[in-house]
Amino acid sequence: MQRVLFHETIFGPIHSRRLGSSLGVNLSPNDGKVCSFDCLYCEAGYNAQGPGTTGLPDRSEVARLLEAKLAAMKADGTPLDVITFSGNGEPTMHPDFGAIIDDTISLRDKYFPEVKISVLSNSTRLHLPDVVEALKRIDNNILKLDSASDRTVALLDRPVDSRYTVDDVIERLKAFDGNVIVQTMITSGEHDGVAVDNSTNEEIDALIEAYRRIRPKEIMIYTIDRRTPERSLRHVSREELERIAQRITDATGIGVQVSG
Ligand code: SF4
Repeated sequence: MQRVLFHETIFGPIHSRRLGSSLGVNLSPNDGKVCSFDCLYCEAGYNAQGPGTTGLPDRSEVARLLEAKLAAMKADGTPLDVITFSGNGEPTMHPDFGAIIDDTISLRDKYFPEVKISVLSNSTRLHLPDVVEALKRIDNNILKLDSASDRTVALLDRPVDSRYTVDDVIERLKAFDGNVIVQTMITSGEHDGVAVDNSTNEEIDALIEAYRRIRPKEIMIYTIDRRTPERSLRHVSREELERIAQRITDATGIGVQVSG
């Protein structure tokens, strides 16, 4: 079974296709996965591997480790573009997420005031006012919407909570009043004999309608880059992603960043 990628709370810096030189913050366990989705393409593997044994890192431990890393990077002149919350699961599931964001903003201001703070989230916790307010305090809240079809989300992203609906999430993304970046993974394949494909014209048309409703400041589309737990998933070519991006921009007027 494919297992988690990150074995530390603070990792990197790594070069990110989307974000540049990125210092990662993993608010999930170091030896397991905690997520409210169970995506077929998750580089951290399936939720079935379990949450591991280390538990979620304490707020104070995150701050201590982050400060030590930022101080060392500043001392040796290591360049940094962004501090990114991602890792082995959904960062907003940490019970102290908002307070950890505040600590991170203070440390960023102290050591690298020009650096951005990004959170990659799957948009499942936007019913919580604390999470929404914390996301509004950072530079790049990058929130996932892989499809405007409930059926496709159920097949590809596999929400743990069966009450998830695309319509609710679109309304919650809309409530950011444009202060949001929407991120969409484009792929196709099959799982347990059932085809899944969010790259069809019908899927892209439905996403365009969703983006029109949300009016994000930017859209990011990307595709499979590393090994995924469901091996049949397709890496979509750069040309195809560029064509999809152009279609979205032509229809919505919103800029689309392509990676992959
Ligand atoms: S939302 Fe992210 S961490 Fe969660 S299963 Fe999907 S890809 Fe993995």
